[in-house]
Amino acid sequence: MFSKKVVTVGNVKIGGDNPIVIQSMTNTDTLDFESTLRQIIRLSNAGAEIVRVSVRTLDDIPSFKKLCENSNVPLVADIHFDYKVAIEAIKAGASKVRINPGNIGAEWKVKEVAKVAKEYGIPIRVGANSGSIKKKYENLVPRYRALAESALEEVRILEKIGFDDIVISIKSTDAKENFLANKCLAEKVQYPIHIGITEAGIYEDAVILSSAGLGALLLNYIGDTIRISIAGDPEKEVGVARKLLTLLGFKKGPRVIACPTCARTEINVEELALKVKEWTKDIDKEINIAVMGCVVNGPGEAKHADIGIAGTKTGGAIFVNGEIVESVSHEKLEETFKRYIEKMNPAN
Ligand code: SF4
Repeated sequence: MFSKKVVTVGNVKIGGDNPIVIQSMTNTDTLDFESTLRQIIRLSNAGAEIVRVSVRTLDDIPSFKKLCENSNVPLVADIHFDYKVAIEAIKAGASKVRINPGNIGAEWKVKEVAKVAKEYGIPIRVGANSGSIKKKYENLVPRYRALAESALEEVRILEKIGFDDIVISIKSTDAKENFLANKCLAEKVQYPIHIGITEAGIYEDAVILSSAGLGALLLNYIGDTIRISIAGDPEKEVGVARKLLTLLGFKKGPRVIACPTCARTEINVEELALKVKEWTKDIDKEINIAVMGCVVNGPGEAKHADIGIAGTKTGGAIFVNGEIVESVSHEKLEETFKRYIEKMNPAN
């Protein structure tokens, strides 16, 4: 059910059969060009394919322009309140603008922004979040419908003026509401959907809430671009988004399967699994690696993985593509397993 329509943001395509795009947002002062550019580069190196930057007033425009000229990923201008800022951000080189027509004000102002976006060939992201439901829908229940109607109304404003280069988003702090509102949206529009749980909290809470809430959407094939919201350093958001997409099978990368350990455990599963994660962190192909503590469930799991190890009384049995290739002592276990993993990924 991923969107049918594709939009282009700089050199990145969102929607259709394209891979789900990871986004993040800077939290440096936009006026501070050096710090903001450094953060954009860090986010890009971590795996962000698009970065959003707040453009608060016209004062931010010169710095934003320089950022667009120097950034290695497309930048989205995040605009609130002043339509003139949106227009200037487009002219300064934004690859997309995110506006909230509700707080841009009169419809003619939204039209002006859309006119310039069309001229420059860039998409607009509109939508709603749980803190910005339109007044007329405030009493609509259930609340997910109010969110969906708010977002759809913004889409209609743009469609009415012939603008359809749209990315739409609905975000709620409530994962269930977020799920239902986005599901409703996906049934009604063909535009790419940007998903996220808004204001998800500090690291641990944000990771759990976003994984559950966005995981449910992704497993229903809803969501063409994703941002994990975490209070603090945005680089963490990118790592979590990458991990979530990889573990759900939407992004190529290593998956380390490890048993929870029990009284039968013959090897230090956690320590070895952590090392395997470190050895494989830069691999960008699909590879399943199993680290299992014993021969009860170990061989079964290890056999289904591309490569696996199951602890034994004397060390471990190494499996490659379902076949035992070697039995090793405790002393040789780590280096031998590492060698087999490297052999499976010769490029690294
Ligand atoms: S694989 Fe073996 S050690 Fe690990 S949890 Fe299962 S029974 Fe216990």
